[in-house]
Amino acid sequence: MSDPRRQRGLIHVGQVNLPPFEVMREALEKIFERDFYTNHGPLERQLDAALAERLDVIHAISMVNGTVALTLLLQALDLKKVGVIVPAFTFPATVQAISWAGLRPIFCDVDRKTHHLTADLVAKRLGEADAADVGAILGTHVWGRACDPLSLEELARERDVRLVFDAAHAIGCVAAGRTIGNFGDAEMFSFHATKVLSGLEGGCIATNDDALAERLRTMRSFHDRPGAPRDLLRFNAKISEAQAAMLLLGLDRLDDYVESNRRRYESYREELSVLSGLRFVDHAAGQVSNFQYVVIEIDAPAFGMTRDELVDVLRDHGILARRYFSPSIHKLPPFGTGVALPNTDFLCETLVQLPTGQAISDEDVVRVCGIIRAARRGGVSR
Ligand SMILES: *Cc1c(COP(=O)(O)O)cnc(C)c1O
Repeated sequence: MSDPRRQRGLIHVGQVNLPPFEVMREALEKIFERDFYTNHGPLERQLDAALAERLDVIHAISMVNGTVALTLLLQALDLKKVGVIVPAFTFPATVQAISWAGLRPIFCDVDRKTHHLTADLVAKRLGEADAADVGAILGTHVWGRACDPLSLEELARERDVRLVFDAAHAIGCVAAGRTIGNFGDAEMFSFHATKVLSGLEGGCIATNDDALAERLRTMRSFHDRPGAPRDLLRFNAKISEAQAAMLLLGLDRLDDYVESNRRRYESYREELSVLSGLRFVDHAAGQVSNFQYVVIEIDAPAFGMTRDELVDVLRDHGILARRYFSPSIHKLPPFGTGVALPNTDFLCETLVQLPTGQAISDEDVVRVCGIIRAARRGGVSR
């Protein structure tokens, strides 16, 4: 089938990794034959088991999307202290989920090189006056790499606070020999249409904590479950059979998606890492990445052009490069605070994400790199 987005001549950053339409049609036919569309059908059960196996965790609890999954997770922790340490350098959903759960985000800076929270930065933030009531740390694994999980686990233990992760970017990644999904108390994954594994919408919580899993299975639905705790607030967060079908097909193809992302990432790196004024953000060696994002950092004086000017040049060529996560949520209503986060500010002004995913061909990568090289040569030298 022709790609309607390509017909419009546009190249996007978000991945659109979908199974062939004919395969999805067969899966939908089976759903219609069974006449079972939602409310904890056989595909939901199969998906939860398949996700648990893939993530190497005891429990995977699928939900309708990642934001709702994270909100319910934060509720399910039943924190007595309402402060949650969170990076401002994350997708707004991470922070919004904290507020929807009735908790209070406390913004922390991230490391300038890895773009993640570190135990040192969190420990420093915990010592500040507005962080007296912290009940949890919520880290985000950005780009498909892990967020220093072992030292954060150690810090959380020392300070007796809970630790959870937004792993929306990190399906299939491994750090310190453990699959992401196994760190902290629990981790959230997103299966939005732009993620490596797509249910068009979808999400899940992975955890090895039996009691937490039981609470989340109860909270995600109004359906009665034998022996379910009665004291919990519930939500309609369950996944439909059509979403589960697409995700099961995606799981079968996940290794191929990651491998082709890796190939595009290597081509980008080969072409771009030699350019001065541009830092190619490496996916840390020693970890397994899914290469969901290809990220570059622009040093405007050396590159001869600002990050925003480069993004405009790419857009003029139909390449919709992104500037995640700019503007930073710590400066925007309703969260706007006066807290100083110099590394976050720096990253929000200098990073660009380039197109990858199944819709992007090897020729596209060469073309994008050619435009960046030409922009740099044509830039004003200083
Ligand atoms: C996509 C994303 C989310 C939100 O997930 P949804 O499934 O779209 O609700 C949260 N955090 C990060 C870092 C994301 O990239």
